[in-house]
Amino acid sequence: MKMSGWGRYPMVETNLVSPHTEKDLRDHLAEGCIARGNGRAYGDSAVSTGTTLHMRHFNRMLRFDAQTGTLEAEAGVLLEDIIKTFLPQGWFPKVTPGTKYVTLGGMIAADVHGKNHHKSGGMSETLTWIDVMNADGSVQRLSPDDPLFAWTCGGMGLTGVILRAAIQLRRVETGYIEQRTLSAPNLQVALEMLKAAHSATYSVAWIDCLSKGAALGRALIMLGEHAKHSALHSALHSDPFALAPRRKWTMPMAAPQVLLNQYTARAFNAAYWRAGQHKTDPVLTDWDRYFYPLDAILGWNRIYGRRGFLQFQCVLPHETAEGGLQALLKATSEAGLGAFLAVLKQMGAEAGGISFPRPGLTLAIDFPRNQGSLQLMERLDQIVLAHAGRFYLAKDARLSAQTLKASDPRVTPFAQMLQNTEADNHFHSAQSKRLKL
Ligand SMILES: Cc1cc2nc3c(=O)[nH]c(=O)nc-3n(C[C@H](O)[C@H](O)[C@H](O)COP(=O)(O)OP(=O)(O)OC[C@H]3O[C@@H](n4cnc5c(N)ncnc54)[C@H](O)[C@@H]3O)c2cc1C
Repeated sequence: MKMSGWGRYPMVETNLVSPHTEKDLRDHLAEGCIARGNGRAYGDSAVSTGTTLHMRHFNRMLRFDAQTGTLEAEAGVLLEDIIKTFLPQGWFPKVTPGTKYVTLGGMIAADVHGKNHHKSGGMSETLTWIDVMNADGSVQRLSPDDPLFAWTCGGMGLTGVILRAAIQLRRVETGYIEQRTLSAPNLQVALEMLKAAHSATYSVAWIDCLSKGAALGRALIMLGEHAKHSALHSALHSDPFALAPRRKWTMPMAAPQVLLNQYTARAFNAAYWRAGQHKTDPVLTDWDRYFYPLDAILGWNRIYGRRGFLQFQCVLPHETAEGGLQALLKATSEAGLGAFLAVLKQMGAEAGGISFPRPGLTLAIDFPRNQGSLQLMERLDQIVLAHAGRFYLAKDARLSAQTLKASDPRVTPFAQMLQNTEADNHFHSAQSKRLKL
């Protein structure tokens, strides 16, 4: 069958299997296989031209320590289920990406980051151990001081199949976030505001990536703190974790790509920006709306039409960030493609291995896939290289092996480490083949 990642590009012919047990899984370990979680990585990292091992049946929660908030669970457990099970007991994930429809294994393999990376680090820093099935079918428990642990967190499934993990949750008093929105008329002010808000638990900037000239990089900056019980309206005091009903929409089919062009994108971005100007008072928002706004539209990836879409995500070190971001946004706004979403976040310390985050600023922009956006992204690649930045493999569907290697001195040791183990003969995704990993 043909499969893709969330961006619906590229479509890869694969043999999809969904093992139920470790024995089943062992029987399916073959040359050129790769684990797949919930398919939320944008590109071709979770699909193999050989066998794709869907981990959805490995979905049991195994043990929870209510004193420490440590959860042991199988790799196919969804983040949504972790939240729905443990939030009513006062526990929330320490790190979450912008969708709750991801698996524990997928979060570990990409070493995902949230809006709090600058303060709390990434997924790998919330783990006590992980169990990994090696190419020969043996299972190894890895702790954070084991070198293979670091290569596995962020290693995009190439070191083996993650079976289980122990993750640390954080205590919260409510399921609400106190959100403040600041508006910045251009990139320079946005960066100053983000820096000044460094102590905020959560921070993210939405950038109008089609604004030009003096307004280049105008942004809405959203800061968040877990709300205390006393901050809630009295109607919520008896159930501070209750979730207000949220209407879910479903995108029924792929939209015609003609709907997404520089005019509709410009109009949307301008309207969003104007609406944000009036939201400067602090508001209480429930966890689902705050962390996962896009999850309200099921199948929103079909909005980009049959040709699919691409996300460009890089991180630039602090020293080069301002110049690099100016150049990336200028190239994007001048190209005038239908880019809706641009998100900027602060990043903290590096975790090791081949994990994406490093101190600096990360920018992510979605583009409809067409000839123009592919050419633009190649120009953006060069800007990132010129500013000593690196790329996020969980979002990539089109980088060249040469660009990846030039961006990150850790790529060669990672590839060598894989070659020195049986993993290299076994674990391959369409992405790892393209990137010669
Ligand atoms: C709307 C949206 C918002 C997002 N926001 C963020 C964000 O803010 N921060 C961020 O960091 N990421 C973000 N992402 C990316 C997403 O968090 C990662 O791609 C994550 O890896 C997806 O998890 P998954 O379970 O869907 O994994 P998949 O997409 O199925 O797989 C991703 C990678 O993990 C590997 N993998 C999966 N399961 C296993 C396993 N059991 N053992 C070994 N390897 C495995 C796969 O081989 C593949 O390389 C976002 C994605 C979307 C769609």
